[in-house]
Amino acid sequence: MRRDASSELIKKLDLEKVSGLLDIPDYRLTGAIERKTLQHVASRPELFRFDKPISSVEGGTSIFIEPFDIVRGFPKIQRTLVLYPGLVTHFSSCNKVAVEEKMNGYNTRLALVGDELVGLTRGGFLCPYTTEKANELVGLEFFLDHPDLVICGEMVGPDSPYVPKSIYDIESLDFFAFDVREKISGKPMPVMERRGLMEEYGINSARFFGEYDVEEAHNEITGIIKGFGDSLHEGVVIKDPQMVITPVKYTSSLSNCADLRYAFEFYNDYGRDFFFPRVCREAFQSMEWDEDEESRRKRCLRLGESILLPMIETIKKKKNGERIAEKVQIRVKNLKTALDFETHLRVLGVDAVFEEPEQIGDEYLIRIRKIYHSTNDKTESILRGEMWS
Ligand code: ATP
Ligand code: MG
Repeated sequence: MRRDASSELIKKLDLEKVSGLLDIPDYRLTGAIERKTLQHVASRPELFRFDKPISSVEGGTSIFIEPFDIVRGFPKIQRTLVLYPGLVTHFSSCNKVAVEEKMNGYNTRLALVGDELVGLTRGGFLCPYTTEKANELVGLEFFLDHPDLVICGEMVGPDSPYVPKSIYDIESLDFFAFDVREKISGKPMPVMERRGLMEEYGINSARFFGEYDVEEAHNEITGIIKGFGDSLHEGVVIKDPQMVITPVKYTSSLSNCADLRYAFEFYNDYGRDFFFPRVCREAFQSMEWDEDEESRRKRCLRLGESILLPMIETIKKKKNGERIAEKVQIRVKNLKTALDFETHLRVLGVDAVFEEPEQIGDEYLIRIRKIYHSTNDKTESILRGEMWS
């Protein structure tokens, strides 16, 4: 049965072509299909995606069948916990580094497939909502001139169904480019060339702070992060101006804590994965910034409150009979996009309740509640008197 399904799919994929273009032996592709690491996800345009990395091909790489195309996945960005000597070690072959804001939203790749501009999310899925927004916010012009390039960027704003944030002055949703790459090889463009190209087409880029000597960058970045103050700007991404050495990310304590508040509201779904790395980040930052007792105490309090307060709220809500859900919203011009997006969330395994659309001008606002079953069930069972384990 499984073999039949796989061989049907293999027939649609030109394995020889894919293997040549991605430089992976075709038996590895066949094995990946058998294991569902390379899986079929959508019927129009016909799309396969890599669920995990294979050899040098990133997870989230998308392969379109008809018309044929490949969009490489967005590579993982390493994180440094100390700016010094993290940056001088990583960027030892560069004189300068370029520093950009790490925009807090969701990763999006925009590319032309056939004559359609599609919006892909990190996992290599075609997201109908992102696609509608990409067509509205970025449009086709750039891609008609550069059909072999993909623009990678962050979709940011309150009308984001994945990472809703109101930290920037964005009314609905906006797109900020941070990479332009070759679609098939994934080769990135140098930072300033890319920013210039985006400007030429009137496409926003992530905020640029400056280019600094590698030896000095830690001081500059400490200033930038401290300058964020109480705002929830997430952090920075530090890049080799030529984009030969891979980028590095570094984030602020306030955004760490905002992530923890979110994770512990849905503690049994996200808490464990979010917790340990963020505690480590806090500890190294406190050391590097040589904090006095007062600042350390503030940091400890902030961290503790970010974990416990949302979780206590969740338990109270459950005690009062409420369902634990995350409220998000989307704003569409076309109601079909909302229907397609509902199907898309179902494919992702997200249990989401869509409310009736509310017409605002020429758009529809649709509120969505994502239900977190694990947190609901665990909290309910404990409140019923069941044991934790
Ligand atoms: P990963 O570490 O695998 O990239 P993650 O989900 O852990 O993914 P983050 O911690 O959010 O991701 O950091 C990486 C992400 O930051 C990128 O995938 C990208 O979406 C986002 N990002 C925002 N601004 C920038 C920028 N200026 N340059 C590069 N990436 C940026
Ligand atoms: Mg992010």
